[in-house]
Amino acid sequence: MPFGHSTWPFGIPPPMKPTPRIVPAEPNIEQAARQIDAGGLVAFPTETVYGLGANAFDAIAVARIFELKARPQFDPLIVHIADVADVECLATSFPHAARVLVEQFWPGPLTVVLPKQPIVPDIVTAGLPSVAIRLPDHPIALALIRAARVPIAAPSANPFGRVSPTTAAHVDEQLDERLEWILDGGPCRVGVESTIVSFLGPTPSLLRPGGVPLEVLEAAIGPVTVHPSAIPSSAADRPLAPGQLASHYAPSTPLQLLINSDASQFRGQRVGLLSFRSPSNRTGWAAIEVLSERGDLGEAAANLFAAIRRLDAAGLDLIIAEPLPEAGLGNAIMDRLRRASARAAAHFARTKAT
Ligand code: AMP
Ligand code: MG
Repeated sequence: MPFGHSTWPFGIPPPMKPTPRIVPAEPNIEQAARQIDAGGLVAFPTETVYGLGANAFDAIAVARIFELKARPQFDPLIVHIADVADVECLATSFPHAARVLVEQFWPGPLTVVLPKQPIVPDIVTAGLPSVAIRLPDHPIALALIRAARVPIAAPSANPFGRVSPTTAAHVDEQLDERLEWILDGGPCRVGVESTIVSFLGPTPSLLRPGGVPLEVLEAAIGPVTVHPSAIPSSAADRPLAPGQLASHYAPSTPLQLLINSDASQFRGQRVGLLSFRSPSNRTGWAAIEVLSERGDLGEAAANLFAAIRRLDAAGLDLIIAEPLPEAGLGNAIMDRLRRASARAAAHFARTKAT
């Protein structure tokens, strides 16, 4: 059954923390699902690796994933569903070729990238206008998604730079006590990453090779172009570095990082402010976006992409972004702002030169 919109049970206390936090999966699915409902995180097995899951409709919960993984960048997450019909809730189009593939390979190690519905928070897709969707082939993962009644956004349940976990004990060793629930479903069938196919262009495009080989995809749907990210580099067969995706959303309005910014210095220009907390002086700005009134980095991360998008749509000459504290999620936020400002600097250099 397709999802309605996400229910967010404010006021409902989170379930009791299990002791120890590794719990046998089957008897605890319902309680783990309530944890997901309450904005919590749950590590759960899939057929590839253990995932670190949150309600995909809850931007704050998804921000906690990045916090726990201590990843210095945001990367787009795969949204896990338990029913093919739920694709329509997440994506604005579901092309024929994508349908053919999912009919054949779901549940399984195939991820399809489709244009996203607005209900999918920007933090899930790291600002991309597309969403990656997968229906995993694991009874525990499917039972958890069904019980939570929301799609679950999940990367692998390891800290940045560490090996992906294939047992509950690996997750326990690697992630600190802020993760309360690890559903133990035994060891994963190792080594099969999902094949990622994008349906955004005129021809399907392979973004990452994985469990479903290219020839098998082509036998099902005809020619598939191979994106450069899917070709292992000769130096090392490193996977696609997701935060570096060239197509990542970057504002087209120039963006500059500036401490103690004062609008009066930009007289004659339409300048917008991207502020961490509420600015002390609001005069002179053509638009202001506050990331977190109470100065919470998780809330700031959850709001970041949408705030940049709104400023970019406001017809501004320039966006001034105030630096955030570089601790925890502040690192990932600053990484994104630096990249946006570097692009702006490169743009200025080009326009000067010509
Ligand atoms: P993993 O969860 O480790 O299997 O990795 C998720 C992969 O999906 C990363 O390589 C991401 O770059 C990729 N991915 C997620 N969302 C998108 C998207 N919207 N467009 C392209 N790639 C995506
Ligand atoms: Mg990973």
